[in-house]
Amino acid sequence: MVVAGAGAAGVAAALGSCREGARTLLLARRPLLGGTPSGFLIHSLSGLYLPGSDALPRLANAGVCWEFIERLRANGGGDGPVRIDNEDVFLRDPGAFARLCEDLCAREKLLTVRRNISIDQVDTDSRGIQSILLEDDPSPVRSRIFIDATRDAELSFLSGATLLGEQTAVGRRSAFVFVISEPHAEAPDHELLGQVSALVIDGVRSGELNPKLAMCVIRAPGFGGDIRPVIDLDTEGDHYSTLQPENVLRLQILGSNLAAELEAMLRSKVPSLRDCRVALHPAVPHPRATRRVRGRLVLSKADSTPNADTVCWLAWGGGLAVPLRALMSADFQNLLMAGRCLSADWELQPRLRVAGAALATGEAAGRSGAAIALSGCDSLNPTAEEVIATRVRHSIVGPLN
Ligand SMILES: Cc1cc2nc3c(=O)[nH]c(=O)nc-3n(C[C@H](O)[C@H](O)[C@H](O)COP(=O)(O)OP(=O)(O)OC[C@H]3O[C@@H](n4cnc5c(N)ncnc54)[C@H](O)[C@@H]3O)c2cc1C
Repeated sequence: MVVAGAGAAGVAAALGSCREGARTLLLARRPLLGGTPSGFLIHSLSGLYLPGSDALPRLANAGVCWEFIERLRANGGGDGPVRIDNEDVFLRDPGAFARLCEDLCAREKLLTVRRNISIDQVDTDSRGIQSILLEDDPSPVRSRIFIDATRDAELSFLSGATLLGEQTAVGRRSAFVFVISEPHAEAPDHELLGQVSALVIDGVRSGELNPKLAMCVIRAPGFGGDIRPVIDLDTEGDHYSTLQPENVLRLQILGSNLAAELEAMLRSKVPSLRDCRVALHPAVPHPRATRRVRGRLVLSKADSTPNADTVCWLAWGGGLAVPLRALMSADFQNLLMAGRCLSADWELQPRLRVAGAALATGEAAGRSGAAIALSGCDSLNPTAEEVIATRVRHSIVGPLN
């Protein structure tokens, strides 16, 4: 098995694949495993719990999702969940997620990780993907099954697979980006940002800060001299549109208030930030829709009831059953997708781009891909696929029933 991309989806796919007994190669573009959280300080894991007004939070998937929560809780790297509007969100120490990815991968005997790689070329024939070539390495990498967990479907793009990628006003991020500057302070380093991060988590946990600040992400050092938080205010539902002035105004007011709350807390608690101020506060609607790969089924909002080939659940924004066919490319029978690039229509983008969705669909793709690879068959009939899906579903969702 080859898994391309080592974010939450890729790491979960590699773990799932090894645990089904397949030798697995995980290709990481960067030195650190864990994906986006390595470049940003992200304080929450969203999309792990089914939304609802129940008094008790309900985990959507067990498996790797449950393992991440329990291990983070046990080693002091996470806590919660807290309820933000209608969603339960797990709070975590940003660095702990990346460390846990490293630790879990290091335990898998069947796993090899190659870091700092770049995919140069993908060779295909009528049977599927034959091999990939990595930059600065003349030896082709061959595999029975390839999993694309590269966020923007880079492996699939290079293979010529059909992509789905409409950019629409609705598919844009409703993020509030601002800059906190301190005229007299040094440029922020990891230590200061770690301190800010810990204060955000403690403030949300103690009720001192608005829980929406748990959705505040801070860019890691290297992005300039100021502290640059982004507050992802993706709680407007699926109807948020940047073409609607009232949406942008609402985002602006909410974002400004949250920024002011964070500024006041930093002024009072961090001596080197006692004169800090919010210097820039535009509502930034920028593209968030990434490419997805056309699968044997394109997942849509209608897929809320489980089928014979359901492998896991998407939880963020409402429960959706994910069928194995949405993880399998329509063009190449040995290509599977996980995380943000799985086969789904554009309306589901906001529900795919959270860590819970990446972990669950990653594990599902890894386990399914390994089972297909180990079956020794080039193509499976629908009955065999259902047998595999049932087994995967029992591993991921079963323990919760
Ligand atoms: C600003 C921001 C805020 C966010 N806030 C939250 C939040 O509050 N809560 C939450 O749950 N989630 C949040 N997320 C989303 C979350 O961090 C991830 O996007 C999500 O976990 C999806 O994971 P992924 O594995 O699909 O993608 P990613 O985490 O993006 O990982 C993809 C990986 O693939 C690698 N890659 C790309 N191309 C190649 C290639 N050609 N070869 C090899 N590797 C490649 C990338 O380097 C990366 O490591 C946020 C994301 C952003 C950007």
